[in-house]
Amino acid sequence: MKRDYAVIGLGRFGGSICRELSMEGMEVLVIDNDEDKINEYKNIASHAVIADATDEASLKELGIKNIDHVIVAIGDNIQASILTTVILTDLGIKKITVKAQNDYHEKILNKIGADNVVHPERDMGKRIAHNIISNNILDYLELSDDHSIVEVKAGEKMVGKTLIDLDIRANYGCNVVAIKQGKDINVSPAAEDVLVEEDVLIVIGSDKDISRFEKNLVIED
Ligand code: ATP
Repeated sequence: MKRDYAVIGLGRFGGSICRELSMEGMEVLVIDNDEDKINEYKNIASHAVIADATDEASLKELGIKNIDHVIVAIGDNIQASILTTVILTDLGIKKITVKAQNDYHEKILNKIGADNVVHPERDMGKRIAHNIISNNILDYLELSDDHSIVEVKAGEKMVGKTLIDLDIRANYGCNVVAIKQGKDINVSPAAEDVLVEEDVLIVIGSDKDISRFEKNLVIED
């Protein structure tokens, strides 16, 4: 189903969202108060408009009320980001995603009614840090303040063993929710299957438990 999106602010983050949505064939309205940015994206987005997003009248004139999902990607100017979000919530936009610059900004955005607050630099930093700790940690995704999912290669401590041998739930309090085998994902891995080097385990748990699991079974000596 085709849906309408608007991206406000065309920095690297907003620009990348616009390119990706457009590539997926979505209708994207982009708004920026910098004419050069609008010129850069006018052939990529469906509609590109120079406007100050903190001006309610301009947003109304652009028909922002008819947009299903608005992404506010104004980064540095926290005041403009907050003001824009307040206007969008007042206008009753169905879904608002906002990029936060820091933790305080995030708190305020949550309080004023943003549906989804993203913190790309912080999240990417965490993911890369886990990958730096061990090449076997392929991905790390935060689910809440204290729960995460990690994707780990079955390294030397796991290869040749079964899930029963490793008893990850009893030993570390984490659950193996699936095992990727090449392009296939086995969502109900059998406890007695022997893990091979190509297997990638998808493990869910509290950050504390995941950290113990990583230290004991993933990081190689
Ligand atoms: P990134 O890290 O994603 O490159 P950033 O966090 O540095 O971006 P900024 O450069 O601060 O983000 O802002 C992104 C864009 O938002 C800029 O192109 C800027 O012109 C635009 N912008 C800032 N304020 C407004 C506003 N009030 N109305 C519309 N666009 C705005």
